[in-house]
Amino acid sequence: MTEPDGKTRLIVPLVQPEPTEMRSARAAAAKAGADLVELRLDCLADGAGDALSSLLSDSPVPTLATCRTRAEGGRFAGSDAEAIELLTRAAEAGADWVDLEFRLLAGADALRQAIAARTSRPGLILSHHDWQQRPGDLPGLMGRMHQAGADVAKVAFAPAGPEDAWACFDALASAEGPAIALAMGEAGLPSRVLARAAGAWGTFASLAEGAESAPGQVTIEQMRTLYRWDAQTAATAFFGVVGCPVGHSMSPAIHNEAFAADGVDGVYVPLLVQPEQACFDRFLDAALAGPQPRLRGLSVTIPHKRHALARVGADGVDPLSRAIGAINTVAVDPGAPPTLRGCNTDYAGAIDALVEAIGCEREDLAGRSVAVLGAGGAARAIVAAVSHYGARTTVYNRTISRAEALAGQFDRPAGPVAAGGLDALEAASAEIVVNCTPIGMHPKVDADPLPESFRLSAGTVVFDTIYNPMTTRLLARAESAGCVTVSGLAMFVNQAAAQYEYWLNRPAPRDLMRQVVLEHLTG
Ligand code: NAP
Repeated sequence: MTEPDGKTRLIVPLVQPEPTEMRSARAAAAKAGADLVELRLDCLADGAGDALSSLLSDSPVPTLATCRTRAEGGRFAGSDAEAIELLTRAAEAGADWVDLEFRLLAGADALRQAIAARTSRPGLILSHHDWQQRPGDLPGLMGRMHQAGADVAKVAFAPAGPEDAWACFDALASAEGPAIALAMGEAGLPSRVLARAAGAWGTFASLAEGAESAPGQVTIEQMRTLYRWDAQTAATAFFGVVGCPVGHSMSPAIHNEAFAADGVDGVYVPLLVQPEQACFDRFLDAALAGPQPRLRGLSVTIPHKRHALARVGADGVDPLSRAIGAINTVAVDPGAPPTLRGCNTDYAGAIDALVEAIGCEREDLAGRSVAVLGAGGAARAIVAAVSHYGARTTVYNRTISRAEALAGQFDRPAGPVAAGGLDALEAASAEIVVNCTPIGMHPKVDADPLPESFRLSAGTVVFDTIYNPMTTRLLARAESAGCVTVSGLAMFVNQAAAQYEYWLNRPAPRDLMRQVVLEHLTG
């Protein structure tokens, strides 16, 4: 741990152009739970000038004065010497902390004297920013800052991938004194939200969306509610969803709320990993080798499901997931080295949603006729599962060759699979229809993947894997024909719950998870 007082500060930067607005924001940040407010003096439109004393007096929360130059991503238009002069005045006027670019230290004797002259000495943060890449030797850089007199060493940089967040955690673990290490942007998000579990001196969170002082900052509200800031400890494990893109994922909300309700000491984060296998492997290597926080489990989404299977290896995966050729869940079992297990909960989530709606067991699907629309990833998981349990399946797809390839892979005497084009649906019939295309999904909600001529009767089961909207046009039509209907929501909640159970070996709070998804979809 790098912070002698054992505390990781939640720091809210204030970037308002007017001093009165900055004072109001200061009060709002204190109310929202900030431990420290960073007065970004460079953001004040008419210069900090006379505003310093009003900004630094009677603050409800300790203050950090920063004047970031343009070279370091700030808005200060003056010279380096003018920036140092402003910080010197802030130190004299009562700032609790002052942030100075490390490269300006040689010309900052007046600032150091002002700091030393105060009875209650303000702390000095020396900081370094790199907008291109991770500095080559983070621990060495921080070491030089501490040796130069930094009370806190701070480094922020543009990462190549989330593995650079673990370079931050490594640097924090070996730092000689209090330190902040942040990877900026979406890929660097774990370095911000896991800063407490990693033992940083502080991390930054914006007061509201649009009030960020650097890319990748989440709001203080998200930090405290979504990312469980107040519950993080040095023992907190981390979980996450690996994908590209990943920002839209509902999984952090679902799993973090479930952890909170279930008393699990874990935080779940989005992990933006570029599409190649090598990027997936690089991230996993770093997360497995790194210090605290320890990786316990991953959800895996497009385009990494096959990469995850290749990485875990066939021996760590159940036969059906192996046959599907893709996994969406990885569990990390502690040990030296830790071992990986993987499975595909998409198929389990889908088939369980189906049998729950029908009111039967998986094995009761044997002999039933199933029409699967689409031949992509979702169709693959469903065809593998229903054919495994003995259903007679036909895959209908826009691109017939893909339907044929999918059917060819899972066709077996005890669960035959045939293929056809979408036009063949005109004359088709089936006891169970599963839509695995995006036809009917938001925003094109008036589309229906099933031709009008397809006979839907009271005995038919219609499963639409789409969950936005929850009642698609296809499901509405099936409901009016008296069919049993299954929405993609049940599949989505089931696959998330199965992941939770796979990682933690305890029942998932399914009702809560369903509630979180509903709130997101209707919210
Ligand atoms: P995917 O791998 O991209 O496959 C999409 C499939 O839909 C392909 O077979 C494609 O046909 C077909 N398709 C796409 N647009 C079409 C159009 N305009 N007309 C006819 N066919 C079209 O996608 P996926 O991952 O399988 O996802 C498919 C759907 O499943 C998504 O819309 C999603 O809502 C749903 N899903 C739900 C869950 C859940 O948990 N509820 C999970 C995963 C997916 P071609 O082969 O001809 O391109």
